Amino acid sequence: MTEHVNSYYAATANRTLAYPMLEGEVEADVCIVGAGFSGLSSGLHLAERGFKVVLLESARVGFGATGRNGGQIVNSYSRDVDVIRKRYRPEVAESLCSMIFEGGDIIRERIAQYNIDCAHRPGGVFAALNHKQMAELEAQKGHWEGLGNDQLELLDQDGIRQVVGTEAYVGGLLDKRGGHIHPLNLALGEAEAITQLGGRIFEQSPVTRIEKGANPVAYTEHGRVKAKYLVLAGNAYLPGGLEPSLGRKAIPCGTQVVTTAPLSEDQARALLPQNYCVEDCNYLLDYYRLTEDNRLLFGGGVVYGAREPDSIERLIRPKMEAVFPQLKDVQIDYSWTGNFLLTYSRMPQFGRLDDHTYYLQGYSGHGVTCTHLAGRLLAEALSGQAERFDAFATLPHIRFPGGRHLQIPLTALGAAYYSLRDKLAL
Ligand SMILES: Cc1cc2nc3c(=O)[nH]c(=O)nc-3n(C[C@H](O)[C@H](O)[C@H](O)COP(=O)(O)OP(=O)(O)OC[C@H]3O[C@@H](n4cnc5c(N)ncnc54)[C@H](O)[C@@H]3O)c2cc1C
Repeated sequence: MTEHVNSYYAATANRTLAYPMLEGEVEADVCIVGAGFSGLSSGLHLAERGFKVVLLESARVGFGATGRNGGQIVNSYSRDVDVIRKRYRPEVAESLCSMIFEGGDIIRERIAQYNIDCAHRPGGVFAALNHKQMAELEAQKGHWEGLGNDQLELLDQDGIRQVVGTEAYVGGLLDKRGGHIHPLNLALGEAEAITQLGGRIFEQSPVTRIEKGANPVAYTEHGRVKAKYLVLAGNAYLPGGLEPSLGRKAIPCGTQVVTTAPLSEDQARALLPQNYCVEDCNYLLDYYRLTEDNRLLFGGGVVYGAREPDSIERLIRPKMEAVFPQLKDVQIDYSWTGNFLLTYSRMPQFGRLDDHTYYLQGYSGHGVTCTHLAGRLLAEALSGQAERFDAFATLPHIRFPGGRHLQIPLTALGAAYYSLRDKLAL
C-alpha cells in the first residue's frame, strides 16, 4: 500500500477512508489515469456533464503534487500575459489570456457548490525583492486589469510591510482574486463530489499498460478499464515507461516544503496580519502562508530530476529565516518533497495522442488553478467543443536540449543563470 507522504496535509486530512482497488473489468465513457487536480477536475467536469467516469490512482487521491503543494491559488500560468502575447499568434494569445482567471473561479465555485471544507482564504501577494521586479508587477497589474481583474492593489515598501512582517521586499502586488486552500482537503472533497455524481475512483491501482486506439484500455495488476476515451493525468508521477512520448516532453523537478510548529496568534499575525499567501518574484521562488492552526508553511528551492535532498530542513530553513529572522528558534514539525513537471516553454501541455487518448501535464510549478481550468477544457473537448482545449493543444512544445543525460544538468545550469540574474536584479 502506498500512502500519502508524512506531511502537514496528510496529518490534517478530512477523509481517511480509502477507495477500493480495481479488480476485474470495468467499463466507462472516460478512464482517467491519476487522481491529482488534473484528473479530479476532469472527472468532476465530465461527471457533471453526464459522462460515466472512472479514475485510477496509483496510491491515494492527492498523493502527488496535489496533496503536497503550497496551496496557493495563483492566477495565470507559469508564463504570464506579457510572454504569451510576444510568443504566440494574436488569436491564440488572446484565447489563452482570456482564461487566466478561470481556474481560480472554478475552485471557489467547487468549494461553494459541494461545500468543501478546505480552509479557503482570499488574497495572495506577489512580493518584489528589487525595483526591476516591482516594475514587472506594475506591468502585470496593467495586463490583468485589461483582462478584467479589478481586485489588484500595488503595494509600496510601506504597503507590503503592512501585509508581510519582513523588511525583505521593496513592494508587491496584492491579488484579492488569489488566495489559499488546504489542497489535499480540496482534492478529497472533489473526489467525493465525483462519486456522488456516479463516478468511480480506484486507489492503489497503478496503471501498468495502456492500449490506445478507437477502444482504449487501461490495465492494472488486477483489472482493466475499457473506455471510449483515456486521459493521462499522472504529471510528474507518470512512470516513464507508460507513455514514453510524454516523458520526453518535460522534466520532473522536486520542490520542498516545511511547516513550523503552531505559532501563537500574536506571532502568526505579526508575520501575515491579513492571512494572505505570498510568493516572491524570483525565478527559483519562495512561497509561504499560514495554515488554519497558525503554522507557517514555507516552500522553495528546486531539485532538477526530482531527487530527494538529504535534509529538507537544512535546505529550506535558511530561506525561511532570511524572510522571517524572528523564526530562528521555531521548531519544524513537518517537511516533505513534491514533484512538479517543468516544460521548456513553461506553458502547460494539453493534447491528444490519438482521437481517443488525451493528456494534461506540465504546469511548471503553477498548477493549482490551471489544473482546474484543464479539466473544464477537457470536458468541453470531449463534448464536441474543442476550441479552447485546442488553443493549448496547438502550442508548439520543444524538448529540452541535450538528450536524456544532459537535460537535467543543462536545466540546472539555466536555472542557476536566472537565479544569478535575480540576485543581481538584472
Ligand atoms: C511542493 C509543491 C508546491 C507547489 N505549490 C504550488 C502552489 O502553491 N500553487 C500552484 O499553483 N501550484 C503549486 N504547485 C504545482 C501544483 O501542485 C501542480 O501543478 C498540480 O498539483 C498538478 O496536479 P496533477 O494532477 O497534474 O499532478 P499530481 O498532483 O502530481 O497528480 C498525478 C497523480 O497521478 C498518479 N499517477 C501517476 N502515474 C499513475 C499511473 N500509472 N496509474 C495511476 N495513477 C498514476 C499519481 O500517483 C498522482 O496522484 C506545487 C507543486 C509542488 C510539488
